Amino acid sequence: MSYHIDMEDAAANEPVLLSKHSKNLLRFLHLLPARMASHDNTRSTIVFFAVCGLDVLNALHLIPPQMRQDIINWIYGGLVVPRSNEKQCGGFMGCRAMVPQTDDAELQECVRAYQWGHLAMTYTSVAVLATLGDDLTRLDRKNIVAGVAAVQRPDGSFSACIDGSESDMRFVYCAATICHMLDYWGDVNKETMYQFIMRSLRYDYGFSQELEGEAHGGTTFCALAALELSGQLHRLDTCTVERLKRWLIFRQVDGFQGRPNKPVDTCYSFWIGASLRILNAFELTDYAKNREYIMTTQDKLVGGFAKWPQSTPDPFHTYLGLCGLAFTGEPGLSDVMPSLNISMAAYAHLKQLHESWRLKGDENTTGASPYSIATTPELLDAAMEQQMKMCDDSETSTSPLISAQ
Ligand SMILES: [Zn+2]
Repeated sequence: MSYHIDMEDAAANEPVLLSKHSKNLLRFLHLLPARMASHDNTRSTIVFFAVCGLDVLNALHLIPPQMRQDIINWIYGGLVVPRSNEKQCGGFMGCRAMVPQTDDAELQECVRAYQWGHLAMTYTSVAVLATLGDDLTRLDRKNIVAGVAAVQRPDGSFSACIDGSESDMRFVYCAATICHMLDYWGDVNKETMYQFIMRSLRYDYGFSQELEGEAHGGTTFCALAALELSGQLHRLDTCTVERLKRWLIFRQVDGFQGRPNKPVDTCYSFWIGASLRILNAFELTDYAKNREYIMTTQDKLVGGFAKWPQSTPDPFHTYLGLCGLAFTGEPGLSDVMPSLNISMAAYAHLKQLHESWRLKGDENTTGASPYSIATTPELLDAAMEQQMKMCDDSETSTSPLISAQ
């Protein structure tokens, strides 16, 4: 006799195992399992998924104070500060393999040639610092943003690092997150960045990773988030916005897929969900079906979420699955700021820092940040109006941005 178990029906009533997910993520702050050894050079992304995941789970208190300080110090240990006669390679590294624990000055000097910031590692490192409540005073914002500007290509896209790499929408997103979080854009060319993004809009109204590529859910998120973070979302006309919403909404099967005719995957509950949140259209999706799919990928034994049912959970899908559930208002989870992919609490901390930097750099600056993200259509309209006014005024008045310290 055989028994048929309908996994989706069973999953619909499953609770989110909050404490198991917390334990699962906490484990990655202590050790990296052997099967994930290949991620060693991008360790700060693992720390990002673990720390920000614990934040969304309202479980940051599980990181003891000393360990929290150790994580902050470890992050700062990957900061690259170029000398005035060196190329602009400021930013964070993903691991500490190129930071030898030695007093040998000759060796340190030798290794220095292999140290440079990486946009994705810089984004995740600053996000972790903000989430842990650090005041970012150990950062030279001007130097880091100079490193971002140095890897912008003539077509407006960005490479990951000064040593050369692919240049595509992923790094356009990382560049926008860094500049937004540091509240400083320096020599980054927002206009060519915008042009690159718009040239990547495909015939079906999703964005591709590079020019002439296929529209993709992940890169559509990167494009929309970069537009929002750089204060340029209002440049999309109504017709384009409606067609983008249509492409995004059609990615829902039960969970979400990244491209037409592809299987659904837990992480797209974030990529597509966040894109729709940015466009104020997430409420047009089926929350129950979305949750049902994500819950089929929950590991009930060790916690965590996988991309597919019966697959091995990993920090990436665990974090993005939690964010996808947070968008649907799942009890016990904190809301997530869609375009920065950090909790709203962490974002509020960042906004406080921005305010203090502005006050410190320009005592006449007292208003709200002109680059704060609007969260309702009414606020979006008001913010667009204000931004357009600022563009008009820019010829005759001083920049609203203070100089980075
Ligand atoms: Zn995935």
